[in-house]
Amino acid sequence: LLSVQNLTKKFEDHTILDGLNLEIKKGEVIVIVGPSGCGKSTLLRCINALEPIQGGTVTLSGKPIEYGSRNLAAVRQKIGMVFQSYELFPHLTVLDNIMLAPLKVQKRAKDEVKQETLQLLERVGLKEKADSYPRQLSGGQKQRVAIVRALCMHPEILLFDEVTAALDPEMVREVLDVMLDLAKQGRTMIIVTHEMQFAKAVADRVIFLDQGHIVEEDAPEVFFEHPKTERAKQFLNVFT
Ligand code: ATP
Ligand code: MG
Repeated sequence: LLSVQNLTKKFEDHTILDGLNLEIKKGEVIVIVGPSGCGKSTLLRCINALEPIQGGTVTLSGKPIEYGSRNLAAVRQKIGMVFQSYELFPHLTVLDNIMLAPLKVQKRAKDEVKQETLQLLERVGLKEKADSYPRQLSGGQKQRVAIVRALCMHPEILLFDEVTAALDPEMVREVLDVMLDLAKQGRTMIIVTHEMQFAKAVADRVIFLDQGHIVEEDAPEVFFEHPKTERAKQFLNVFT
């Protein structure tokens, strides 16, 4: 579904991603872990064309993403992204936050979008919050709204960048449960997280990124129980 080939990303003369290769099949869940500053967020932002790249190609459903082209809006409709900081519009209700892009960008019918939105909100336990504003929600609730907003665009792949990192511990679970549910539904997802138990449970494949390279790429059982490199062992020690 998604193919990253020889991706190179630099900020000025600083190479952040150094010829990265990555293949993701439809329905696969990939978890990316690695030390702070290793380029996890940058990789997601490059995939979603939020950052220009200096080399390589990213192909979605057989079509190379053209960076800087006018088609970027179309690309971003196919790639849903959820951020640590929710990025909800404060002046819009939950319902309007979710329905904005399907109506304005995708020009879909309001009744149909509203029905789908309410169904998805119910699925994440937030139907009664449809008319609330973001400031009236907890962090965990805001993040579930952000996930529903991404889903409502019918993306082919979902990217999650440390979506529980800003949450109080008691709200982390409710968001992770939504993501586990999405994995069970067979959604294609790339997840950046520091929640190692969750990573173990949700991942088909774990990627360990360090200094711009994929250092390990393995099934979660293998990566967490028998990491091959010293770097991965050291990294995992911090979390156990
Ligand atoms: P964390 O776990 O802390 O979120 P990360 O793996 O997501 O870290 P990135 O945010 O991708 O790391 O950053 C990778 C490197 O790129 C860092 O050294 C960072 O300082 C640098 N970087 C990120 N964004 C920019 C930018 N806009 N301009 C210059 N350098 C940047
Ligand atoms: Mg990051």
